[in-house]
Amino acid sequence: MIERQGDECVYLLYEHLSGEADLRHGVFTRKGGHSAPPFNGLNVAATTGDDPASARRNQAVVARAMGLPLISAHIVHGNEVCVVERAADESIEQMRARLRHISADAMMTAEPGLGLFWGFGDCAPILLYDPRLRVVALAHGGWRGAAGAIGPRTISAMSERFGSRPEELLAGVGPAIQACCYRVNEQVRATFAANPLAAESAVFEQRADAEGQPALYLDVTASNARQLLAAGVRPERLEVAPWCTGCAEDLFYSHRMRVHADGRFGVVIGLAA
Ligand SMILES: [Zn+2]
Repeated sequence: MIERQGDECVYLLYEHLSGEADLRHGVFTRKGGHSAPPFNGLNVAATTGDDPASARRNQAVVARAMGLPLISAHIVHGNEVCVVERAADESIEQMRARLRHISADAMMTAEPGLGLFWGFGDCAPILLYDPRLRVVALAHGGWRGAAGAIGPRTISAMSERFGSRPEELLAGVGPAIQACCYRVNEQVRATFAANPLAAESAVFEQRADAEGQPALYLDVTASNARQLLAAGVRPERLEVAPWCTGCAEDLFYSHRMRVHADGRFGVVIGLAA
């Protein structure tokens, strides 16, 4: 990924998305920002322990860096996909208020001037761009999202609604928590097993824990990335962020490692106005 220094922030661009003239996107690190320790930096979540005023200031930093207003549906750790469209005469504020009542773990839009935005802290951000039809999508791939094949579901929704073809999409995945840090229980594996696509692409690792007992670990980044490939995204059009959020606490926030700070780092994708 490519690092960019913004005003009071440092964000990362996927290389193949960075050359797209109409596209704005960024995976924001925790560097910069206004949050006090232990959140220090650019935490965008107002509901996980940080001072909400700091989180709002940080969201404004993100919006300014992208040059887009931030728009978010209500995340529920499911696999619903919503279309983000501005109703006639609707203001951005009205639209934001409306979307707060829409539960979804993926958003897509073909409208310029809207920054699809969520905060992440271990769940994988999945960014999709159709350069032919100019459609963008942002999905939230935590373990439940991945078990529900949220990435492929988003691609299907883009195809049905806009006519996107998977092989033409540009995709970016991560950063998210990986098998080095993410211990899960058998119920997680059983949930993946219930969905054939999710089961085939899942990346579990079996190894001994610190006490020498057999334990199960999940790579959230790789599981989501492999699902996109299975859904028809070309390998050369997929870029996967290398960092594990549990390990790279200097750059990101991790819910799993929340003993330090249960923050969220911002991710945006949108079409330039
Ligand atoms: Zn790790």
